[in-house]
Amino acid sequence: MTTASLAPAVAATDARAAFQHALRRELHASGVTAQTATIATAPLLMRAAAAACRELLGQRWADTQAADAVRGARAEVRRVHYLSMEFLMGRALGNALAALKLDDTLREAFAAQGQSLPDVLEREPDAALGNGGLGRLAACFLDSFAELGLPSFGYGLRYQYGMFAQGIQDGRQVEAPDDWLALGNPWEVMRPELRYPVGFGGHVEVRADGSRRWMPAEALVATAYDFIVPAHHSARVSTLRQWHAQAAAPIDFAAFCRGEHHAAAAHRVAADALNWVLYPDDSTESGRTLRLKQEAFLVSASLQDLIARHLRETGSLQGLGRANAIHLNDTHPALAPAELMRLLLDDHGLSWDEAWAITREAVSYTNHTLMPEALETWPVRMFEALLPRHLELIYEINRRFLDDVALRFPGDVALLRRVSLIDEGQGEDGNGHGHGERRVRMAALSIVASHRVNGVAALHSELMVQTIFADYARIFPCRFHNVTNGVTPRRWLQQANPALSALLDARIGTGWRQRLDELERVKPLAADVEFGEQLQAVKRANKLRLAARIQRELGVAVNVDSLFDVQIKRIHEYKRQLLNVLHVISRYQAIVANPDGDWVPRTVVIAGKAASAYVTAKSIIQLTHDVARVIASDPRVGDRLRLVFLPNYGVSLAETIIPAADLSEQISTAGTEASGTGNMKFALNGALTIGTWDGANIEMAQAFGERNMFTFGLRTEQVDALKRAGYEPRQVVEQNPTLRAVIDAIARGDFSQGDAGRYRALVDKLLGEDVYLLMADFADYLRAQAEVDTLFRDRQAWAARVALNIAGMGMFSSDRTIEEYIDRVWSVKSLG
Ligand SMILES: *Cc1c(COP(=O)(O)O)cnc(C)c1O
Repeated sequence: MTTASLAPAVAATDARAAFQHALRRELHASGVTAQTATIATAPLLMRAAAAACRELLGQRWADTQAADAVRGARAEVRRVHYLSMEFLMGRALGNALAALKLDDTLREAFAAQGQSLPDVLEREPDAALGNGGLGRLAACFLDSFAELGLPSFGYGLRYQYGMFAQGIQDGRQVEAPDDWLALGNPWEVMRPELRYPVGFGGHVEVRADGSRRWMPAEALVATAYDFIVPAHHSARVSTLRQWHAQAAAPIDFAAFCRGEHHAAAAHRVAADALNWVLYPDDSTESGRTLRLKQEAFLVSASLQDLIARHLRETGSLQGLGRANAIHLNDTHPALAPAELMRLLLDDHGLSWDEAWAITREAVSYTNHTLMPEALETWPVRMFEALLPRHLELIYEINRRFLDDVALRFPGDVALLRRVSLIDEGQGEDGNGHGHGERRVRMAALSIVASHRVNGVAALHSELMVQTIFADYARIFPCRFHNVTNGVTPRRWLQQANPALSALLDARIGTGWRQRLDELERVKPLAADVEFGEQLQAVKRANKLRLAARIQRELGVAVNVDSLFDVQIKRIHEYKRQLLNVLHVISRYQAIVANPDGDWVPRTVVIAGKAASAYVTAKSIIQLTHDVARVIASDPRVGDRLRLVFLPNYGVSLAETIIPAADLSEQISTAGTEASGTGNMKFALNGALTIGTWDGANIEMAQAFGERNMFTFGLRTEQVDALKRAGYEPRQVVEQNPTLRAVIDAIARGDFSQGDAGRYRALVDKLLGEDVYLLMADFADYLRAQAEVDTLFRDRQAWAARVALNIAGMGMFSSDRTIEEYIDRVWSVKSLG
């Protein structure tokens, strides 16, 4: 195939016919034919449609790969390999139909079966192979890779049970395996021909010629499963290649014959455990070991795949670093440089200098958090047991790096100790790890092996080089950059919000769908009263849809004319869902004190998962439920206030909630949220933001005007200053009667049926250290919330602000983000 055949228009009618044929075949295979007039169930239609789409995407995949291989062989491209432990993909059918322009075809086909398209789409389980923003970013990037035609592979693991499914029992989070593959996965293409050996344990053998070779004790095999992501404005696709682990050896036949069936398969179960869940609980040693194995497994299979492709296309390892970018999405794949060195030195016989030059050219790294406790380190002891050869290589990388630093900063022994890839475990490492244990610092390895390191929003990138990576920034002044995150407008506007999309099409044309910058044409419409009314009508329709879902799932009726105030994201202390709940309590108390007041009715929606071992986050979820129950059962409140927690937050739930939001809560303590991407999705969908001066909130405010966001709270410098001066949360509470009433009510057990103990730990945290400064920001938060009420009463003024927000969101497309990665991080130009 030539690239000319990739033109979408040529293929459009063919695609429709091919799709209809494939759909008939799939249905037929399940016993549904026109003759028998069997009515297909919605889940069956979903699987049949997905299989039919996959067939068309398979052709696009083959064409894309063929085109890239031709260019690869001519050394005309640089392929990007995006390594990530998380890809939070969500559903795929709606996106595939939109990309293939088959929505209408399918709508008709389903109508013939007595089913509606939205109902069928709802039957698809979410591919929830991620935790939060980092994983969703990776998914948005795959979409933009396809859209921009970037030769690329996303590499991840095929977790059989995702992270976990969140249920709520008696107001408490309960976790269950998310069995998303139970009915099979019609999207994935297994590639049994792509199999790579991956080992663990064993020892390193030194040969007569001095070369070293790792002899692993445990032998696994990685098999590839591909998931194809289509572009919307061309026939290009991108690939998510997910690895599945299996034991290399079949069952132990002798043991089996002795009747020892468990023993016969024990090694197979151990291998299979790698496929089970994202983030095995790290509170046990075996959980931690499993996690390190997963990381090593992802990295090894992906790099072997990359090298095999490069050799197939070019016949030599020369130029591998110039032809291939290897990107580390946070430090989870940070073993990549060590594994690449091992493969190049031990398996392919390159010299250290050759291999290191290739590694440095290829590797780049994105940091996603400044929280010291989130910076990954692994005990040297675990490396010795699982990855002995990698440890040798890390020591050698470290020796050369420290020699270099010692030459450039003579006599600065403290610097050497701080920047070493090995934490010698002699002092406080800030991570609360026990003294005495030597650990490998994965961020240090990532920085030293990369030619580029980036943060994910302007403030974050600045703080990164001023705080956690200050020493490295001194050593490598040109290595650090910023690339502000973005989100794909295909999923987060076009698919999630068809009504708003249609309104935009009618008012500014359809160009925004490809160039999100064109949203700036909405700006003059801010003064257009009719446009404002149309925006309100779209919002109301989306709120009705969400209200129906809340009614269905929770049996709670909400007032659709109330202000929908939404905070959906992982539950974490730094994100301050608790501050939100404190505001709800104070509003509740105020309504009860003055039931005849002129209140702006509010529906506060919270959703998010707490990590299974994170006690405080789980307590915040419970408090949310307790407060929600008390408010709902108090007749004095009426429909002026509701608090709603929607369980099992994920991509498709976000797609329903976000278009219905009036207000977006982005209230992290300044300096803690690296970027946020939820903030972007909300503004794009016409919610106004109440937010702190943190992460990408800042760039959003700058893009659409600071006066068009409700900002509040201490800024980073003020947070630091307050902490330095000695912060006394208890005093803050004493001096603010409103806040005091809120804290007292929780402490008394007003929301826990008199059980004063239930939230003692939570209250003690707030009155004790209050690390995230909720008490300090409370008063200003309430002031900003009052401003929200005032503006909301003026429908026209509110709508005008909404228009200005949307108009300013053009730069927050992940297409722009990827263009910047290409320019600053992945291009040959960036290698200098
Ligand atoms: C966008 C998104 C996130 C990230 O949200 P933040 O508010 O930026 O933390 C997390 N989870 C899902 C499912 C998302 O869609």
